[in-house]
Amino acid sequence: MRITGEMLIGSRTVRGAHGTIRAVNPATGEEMEPAFGGGSNEDVDAACALAGAAFDPYRSTSSEVRAKFLEAIAQGIMDLGDELIERVMSESGLPCPRIEGERARTCGQLRLFAAIIREGRWLNVTIDPAMPDRKPLPRPDLRSQKIPLGPVAVFGASNFPLAFSVAGGDTAAALAAGCPVVAKSHPSHLGTSELVGRVIQAAVAACALPEGVFSLLVGDGNAVGEALVKHPAIQAVAFTGSRRGGLALVAAAASRPQPIPVFAEMSSTNPVFLLPEALTVRGADIATGLVESATLGVGQFCTKPGIVIGIEGPAFDQFSTSAAAALKSKAAGTMLNEGIHKSYRAGTAALSRETSVHQIADGQPPITTACSAQAMLFTTSAQAFLSTPQLAEEVFGPAALLVSCKDEAQMFAVAEHLSGQLTATLHLADEDLAIARQLLPILERKAGRILVNGFPTGVEVSHAMVHGGPFPSTSDSRATSVGAMAIERFLRPVCYQNFPAGLLPEAMQDGNPQSLWRVVDGKLQQG
Ligand code: NAP
Repeated sequence: MRITGEMLIGSRTVRGAHGTIRAVNPATGEEMEPAFGGGSNEDVDAACALAGAAFDPYRSTSSEVRAKFLEAIAQGIMDLGDELIERVMSESGLPCPRIEGERARTCGQLRLFAAIIREGRWLNVTIDPAMPDRKPLPRPDLRSQKIPLGPVAVFGASNFPLAFSVAGGDTAAALAAGCPVVAKSHPSHLGTSELVGRVIQAAVAACALPEGVFSLLVGDGNAVGEALVKHPAIQAVAFTGSRRGGLALVAAAASRPQPIPVFAEMSSTNPVFLLPEALTVRGADIATGLVESATLGVGQFCTKPGIVIGIEGPAFDQFSTSAAAALKSKAAGTMLNEGIHKSYRAGTAALSRETSVHQIADGQPPITTACSAQAMLFTTSAQAFLSTPQLAEEVFGPAALLVSCKDEAQMFAVAEHLSGQLTATLHLADEDLAIARQLLPILERKAGRILVNGFPTGVEVSHAMVHGGPFPSTSDSRATSVGAMAIERFLRPVCYQNFPAGLLPEAMQDGNPQSLWRVVDGKLQQG
């Protein structure tokens, strides 16, 4: 499939005339072909108007039609074959096995949402039958179900060019729910975005869906993204990226005449707590696992463990020595783009400048690629950590900060001091359960996922997964952007009171014609 540098607006391809941008190969620093034309406000308006027009017909398609559409997208992505893999590699610097794995995850997500909507529980059908004889007042017949919110603006993430991008989890969840999607290409992987966007555009046509179900815009700068969020047809926003970008979109959405929800996943340091007995009995193993997790994918995961907290003493010293030794052997790697590379260098330089922080290990020196980054391990005291707010900030890349506490009380104080997180991890042995029980209520307030004796990188796409958390890890702690529950972000409940049978949507009709799981008079039942 030829990459043309055009936008996809409904069934049309449109060359943007508002500036020119090119993807840059982060390994070589070279600009890539072709040039992409940036969109204008008129292009945003055209895409959003089509999405608005598509909303009612699209949401009234059956779950089966939408499930087949999602499966067609998954198949289309696989059918792109090596062309897609090669383009992602050159735009992201990520190695082939990682991209093949991410492609499998992307298709798996689309198929998971196909299964979810076929199964039907997402509709959350609830029926309170009428009680005409109830005293002092009769109860009306009340029935409710979830309906989609409306067109969703999706901002792809730089660090997952497939799984969190044009056909990533946000798009899959929104399309499954019945929401048209207007996506904005991430400037780092424009060609990848076009290839995947064209697959979705073709699937829309093949499934005979309204053309406005999907559009893909390109922006030269922030203006297209801002106009997209502010467009009256857009009813929700999904974003993964920087805190600054996420907060700008939250502010834009809140300043609309009709404010809309923004589900922004932003920054997290994913603290790891090393409890004393675990550290004593298997500190060296934990150190190796930690370094693997912190440097995986050049540390460019939102779940990278960036802060590691233990209690000072010989076991923590030994752990630090083992972690430093493991990190020294880690090769430098190419980061996703120049901006991320620059931020990493600035973040690690800021840590180095702090007098209370000591660098205890460097990975292998940078290689000659343009965006090559060296792994780094730092250490500080809990006292310094508690009194220096910037030490708790995310450094996106292969760096971690070890924090040594005087005692358990100081470890609890560090836990309290942390801001909202996607994950928090406990390394514990049976003898540590009493401390863990005291930490758990704090960590439940701080994080969306709490792990025991593992590492936070590697997010399973499944029914129970929560990839979200309190601010600043996300802008809305009630939501997850990974897993089956991600569909909830794009739904809202509607109650139907005293509806005649002939007007009720099928899912709520007597006799349960769709054989759905429904709550009837407070009891979950099928049939
Ligand atoms: P980014 O700069 O936030 O950009 C993400 C997307 O949002 C891009 O499409 C960008 O496009 C758009 N955008 C950013 N600011 C905007 C604004 N003010 N108005 C409208 N649109 C805006 O993120 P990034 O380039 O992927 O990475 C930068 C940093 O984000 C990293 O160094 C890292 O710290 C963080 N990050 C965090 C995660 C995570 O999951 N926690 C993931 C990836 C990155 P335009 O620039 O074209 O407007």
